[in-house]
Parts: sequence; C-alpha cells; structure tokens
Amino acid sequence: MTYRRVLLKLSGEALMGDLGYGIDPKVVADIAQEISEVVKIGVQVAIVVGGGNIFRGVKAASAGMDRATADYVGMIATVMNAITLQDALEQIGIATRVQTAIAMQEVAEPYIRRRAIRHLEYGRVVIFGAGSGNPFFTTDTTAALRAAEIDAEVIFKATKVDGVYDSDPHVNPEAKRYTSLTYSHVLSNDLRVMDGTAIALCKENNIPIVVFNLSVPGNIVRSVKGENIGTIVGG
Ligand code: UDP
Repeated sequence: MTYRRVLLKLSGEALMGDLGYGIDPKVVADIAQEISEVVKIGVQVAIVVGGGNIFRGVKAASAGMDRATADYVGMIATVMNAITLQDALEQIGIATRVQTAIAMQEVAEPYIRRRAIRHLEYGRVVIFGAGSGNPFFTTDTTAALRAAEIDAEVIFKATKVDGVYDSDPHVNPEAKRYTSLTYSHVLSNDLRVMDGTAIALCKENNIPIVVFNLSVPGNIVRSVKGENIGTIVGG
C-alpha cells in the first residue's frame, strides 16, 4: 500500500547530523534525495521542519529569556531549516514551496491552506516553516495540525531511533520495540513519541503516526510504501 498524501515531520536535529549545532549540508542533501524518490512515485509530500538544531524556546526560557519571545526565535529558526531543505530539493529538480506561519513574504509564501493543497496536487513538496505561528507550541503539534488541515493520511515522524520502546534502548539492552501502539497508551504512559498535544490532535482526527529511524538510508521510501519499519501509533 502506498499513501497518497503524507506529512513528514523532520526535527531540526535530523538536519544537524553529527555536528552538534546547525545544519549539515550533506545530511540535508541525503534527506532531499530520499524525499525525491517518494515524490517520483507520485506521493504528495508535505513537510514540517523543527528548529531544535538552532534554537529551542523552552531552553532559552529556562535560562531567563521571556518564553513567548524565545518561542518566536525558535519559530524563525525553523524557517532557516525550511529554506535550506527547499534549496536541497530544488538542486535535484524537485519543485517545492515554503509556506510560513509568520509572514516573511520576501523569502516564502504565507501559510494558506488551500494554496498548500493546490501545490500538493501539482506534485510540489510543501515545506511548512515557522511552526504553528504560536508560542507555547511545538513543531510536533504543528505537524498534527497541518496534517489534519491538508487531509494527510499519515504523519511520518523521522527520529534517531527505529521506533518506540518500552524503555530506553540505550540504557536497557532488553528494551522492546512496539510495532504498534494506541494513542491512549502513548498518552497514559507518557511515551515520548510526540508531545501530548500532538498525540491528542492525531487521536481526535484519526491520523496515524509512523515513527521510524531517519538515519537508515531508504527508510523514508520504505515507510511511505507501507512497510512497518518502526512503530505505528493509531486508534
Ligand atoms: N515553536 C513555537 N511554536 C510552534 C512551533 C515551534 O513556539 O508552533 C518554537 C519553540 O520555541 C520550539 C522551536 O520553535 O522550541 C523549535 O521547534 P521544535 O522544538 O518543535 O523543533 P524540533 O524539536 O522538531 O527540532
């Protein structure tokens, strides 16, 4: 089974590689290559990018910065990632549009739901930057929100681990990976799939979340083709 329209959530850290901060162009090029393969099989791809590789609102707030202000900086950081990813995709011939939830019309389109859908229908990859445009939210919640808005069938949450475990696999060698989980189980056990707001939104709108390891080459294509290579969270 191949999906028709998907939402890919890329954390900022996914673009950082092993650098510890910022963007690794080689990693971004590899991700773009994988995304292009999905586009070429006719799947409509929307992407929400995080900004944790550059700036995280909560962290800056805990060091004394005003939380809402810090969150705005975090949202602007996601736009840098969005534009970088756009460039990598366009370098390999994939048509893209960046839409931001905070207007920056010199560099990107504003977020307009109907226009985003139109781009997807034309086969363009739509990258959503600036999160939801609201402080106190995350890009995970943005992913759930945009997925619901554009009627995506599934959210692919690309991470550094190959799914959701019953305990930390780095600490416990006996840790078991779940192949599937319910939203309620994730919420009641506070499993770190996405934040609670994002899970609740997916639950309410019945959007499955597939958690998989981005660092294994070919995993984006495998997931989109319906192979369960990680953990699927659903109803
Ligand atoms: N952010 C926000 N509202 C949103 C999305 C993001 O305020 O709707 C801010 C928040 O400060 C967050 C930062 O942007 O820390 C970067 O996003 P996130 O931490 O979700 O990125 P990721 O962890 O996916 O790299």
